[in-house]
Amino acid sequence: MSNSPQYIILKEGTAESKGREAQRNNIQAAKLISEIVRSSLGPRGMDKMLVDSLGDVTITNDGATMLKEIDVQHPAAKMLVEVSKATDNEVGDGTTSAVILAGALLEKAEELISKDVHPTVVVDGYMKALEKAQLILESIAEKVDPSSKTDLLKIATTSMMTKLVSDDAPHLAQLVVDAVTQVAEKAEDGTYKVDIDNVKVEKKAGGSMVDTKLISGIALDKEVVHSAMPKRVENAKIALINSPLEIEKTEFSAEIRINDPDQMQKFLDEENSILKGMVDKIEDAGANLVICQKGIDDVAQHYLARAGIMAIRRVKESDMSKLAKATGARIVTNLDDLSSKDLGQAKLAEERKIEEDKWVFIEGCKNPKAVTILVRGGSQRVVDEAERALHDALMVTKDVVEMPSIVAGGGAPEVEVASQLRAWAQKLQGREQLAALRYAEAIETIATILAENAGMDPIDTQVDLRARHSKGEKWAGVDALSGKVANMWNKSVVEPTAVKMQILKAATESACMILRIDDVIASSKSSAPPGGPGGGMGGMGGMGGMGGM
Ligand code: ADP
Ligand code: MG
Repeated sequence: MSNSPQYIILKEGTAESKGREAQRNNIQAAKLISEIVRSSLGPRGMDKMLVDSLGDVTITNDGATMLKEIDVQHPAAKMLVEVSKATDNEVGDGTTSAVILAGALLEKAEELISKDVHPTVVVDGYMKALEKAQLILESIAEKVDPSSKTDLLKIATTSMMTKLVSDDAPHLAQLVVDAVTQVAEKAEDGTYKVDIDNVKVEKKAGGSMVDTKLISGIALDKEVVHSAMPKRVENAKIALINSPLEIEKTEFSAEIRINDPDQMQKFLDEENSILKGMVDKIEDAGANLVICQKGIDDVAQHYLARAGIMAIRRVKESDMSKLAKATGARIVTNLDDLSSKDLGQAKLAEERKIEEDKWVFIEGCKNPKAVTILVRGGSQRVVDEAERALHDALMVTKDVVEMPSIVAGGGAPEVEVASQLRAWAQKLQGREQLAALRYAEAIETIATILAENAGMDPIDTQVDLRARHSKGEKWAGVDALSGKVANMWNKSVVEPTAVKMQILKAATESACMILRIDDVIASSKSSAPPGGPGGGMGGMGGMGGMGGM
């Protein structure tokens, strides 16, 4: 051995971990991530308080938000964070479940690998099981009418019930369903499309959650610029301008020498008349409301007020494009181009006071497919979490409107899929069958964790659920609120099939990807070497955001 030459191909300081060790590290790290979110699953799940390096506090129950806020360093752990992000983007809900399922799949795989089943065989078994699980899910799902508000209401409420704002779930869910059905567009083939960007969520701390309102139109966190302007305009003709109504300063410093007071006056008059000219163009076009993305000069404000035109300045670009869509206005850069054709329309524009702030509401827009949910609540943290809960509820409602198929919740579909998978796995060969059976167990953990978080006995619940499902009770699940096993369909706890499909797909794919890795090479620049016993944990030291606690 000592004679054999040694070849060095990796740079000095590079950390490498191979084979079993690399696999074990990756699996450990990924499992740790799923441990973090585990206790927050379901309506009785706990919340997490996240403290960042500046001491800012976020309180949340949302898996995607938790993982976004903590600063994870281990590469395999990062992959699980990706799973929650992908699920959030794709369907908007089920982020916690996806991470938990990926963790469970890895845990079960580890048991097999330690019994000398090759990871490739596990991966193959898992992929086959995924395909079958999706088919089973499809076969047990129920069709719904996407235009029926009662079903949509159940979906939105279920999603909200698992969040901090669950007490107000019925009220908020109603707003969500109204908003989504208002912006949904029917295609020629009878299906619906929902552009969730048409629903603007604005928040303002203060008042209580029941004051949260749906506005059919757009709310802007801005006040009317000049006190002499009208505060209410009916039949608004709206000019959207994205250049300043000011005299632009020159780039270079110029000097003008004035030796007689008349010249001074002339100079000021000239400025005045330029600004007056701008206002004249707006007036000539017939606008009675100007919304400007940039600033509006005092003099211009004065002339606008004299012409009886309401004006708002420094509006966000994203709001400008929403306004354009909602009112049918064209955003104009050069005032010379402004004509009556460019103006948007709304039935009413009005400044209203919310707490100590003034907001401008633009309602009854030409295109009614633009709505705002104005979130109110006791404190900033409450409205922040309400906004996240609204996001999830809006997304699940959209999911069902677009793909009108639902399943019951509370772990019922997971237990049903698991029990049908077990029967199917009997047809598989040897070790692949082992993998498929473990897959079924992993899916079932969703139900056990729900039970655990609800303070029920996980083993008793599992036995009870299996017995009921074998008797054909496909919607028997964990009713976390009463702490009993129940028919979740009758309890109106329902979820989009699309979410369940995404959870299965995202979790299985990422678990398989992690299982296929047998070599982790970290370049010397990396601060977190992945190798070594405890090295995997070392990578987790990256929860630095919480270090101050
Ligand atoms: P996720 O981020 O995965 O959506 P949640 O914390 O929102 O995580 O929990 C979702 C799980 O809670 C789903 O499995 C859903 O079926 C379940 N669930 C929702 N409402 C109830 C309820 N009333 N009883 C039992 N389980 C429920
Ligand atoms: Mg949820």
